[in-house]
Amino acid sequence: MSAITLPRILRSAVVSVVQWFDSDYEVESIAQAEQREDKVEWVRTIPFCVLHLGCLGVIWTGASWTAAGLAFFLYVIRMFAVTGFYHRYFSHRTFTTSRFMQFVFGLWGATCVQRGALWWAYTHRHHHQHSDDEKDKHSPRQHGFLWAHIGWITSSKNFPTDYRRVKDLAKYPELVFLNRFDVLVPILFAVALYVLGNWLNAAYPGLHTSGGQLLVWGFFISTTVLFHCTAFINSLAHVFGKRRYETDDDSRNSLLLALLTLGEGWHNNHHQHMGSVRQGFYWWEIDITYYGLKLLSWCGLIWDLRPVPVIAYDPSTHRAANRAPQQVPVTHREVKPSRPYIPPVSRV
Ligand SMILES: [Zn+2]
Ligand SMILES: [Zn+2]
Repeated sequence: MSAITLPRILRSAVVSVVQWFDSDYEVESIAQAEQREDKVEWVRTIPFCVLHLGCLGVIWTGASWTAAGLAFFLYVIRMFAVTGFYHRYFSHRTFTTSRFMQFVFGLWGATCVQRGALWWAYTHRHHHQHSDDEKDKHSPRQHGFLWAHIGWITSSKNFPTDYRRVKDLAKYPELVFLNRFDVLVPILFAVALYVLGNWLNAAYPGLHTSGGQLLVWGFFISTTVLFHCTAFINSLAHVFGKRRYETDDDSRNSLLLALLTLGEGWHNNHHQHMGSVRQGFYWWEIDITYYGLKLLSWCGLIWDLRPVPVIAYDPSTHRAANRAPQQVPVTHREVKPSRPYIPPVSRV
């Protein structure tokens, strides 16, 4: 029986399975996807569920300091990739680098299992353009906390990449390849951890680890925690914290979220001045990603770091300082038109 004669529901399930491996396979136009109902696409979401279920493997593999330490280390260096590369570089182009390092950053970011850099940048630029308005893909105000945190990523509406919104990145075939086959790097990464664990088990039995244990801790647990802490910026950072700037969205600053996400918790600062490489605007606003990026710039790997604009320090731009959530004038923000997002011209 050919695929064409299969019942529609079965055919769509088969297409979803193929899309686990080739995310651009049979993708309809973005205009069509936008018309879709915002609901969970279960078959397409199975790998995401497997990622979470994989954490239960700890029941069989147990724990060791080696595995837990590696999970923490991989969390930190991959959170740096999410914030420093996927967010501050690919989405906002807040610094410049070479084409080779750009590919390295794309590869590094792909180990985070948050899909390709182009999809990430597209959905994020869309968020800045429509922050907390009815078109925002992950607004707690519009869709509730749970949808903003995790639901939107499972919606059939949000799986395709709108390459038109990331033209500055889509001109690099190597980045398009990583974006299209976004499961490739995570699979290789998981296999590498399994092989490393088996080798450590044989070479250094005193470490009390194994292939399965490093797979569960280094890949499944570390990646799942990484996902949820990243997602907190879409959910919690628009609900919990203080507002320095009266932006036309609900973004907030939070030290706790900044520590968990290496600096992304200064989300209200970021929504006001998204072109700045630094998100903690004062020395006490800890921004570990910025310190890491400074280090990379001293090594000559990145350059042209875009500073915090002088106007950010003008108290007259801090009108909504420390305003509690219920006091934020919602109607004021609702009548304001969305800011069009115009990415800076690539200088790679
Ligand atoms: Zn936001
Ligand atoms: Zn942003």
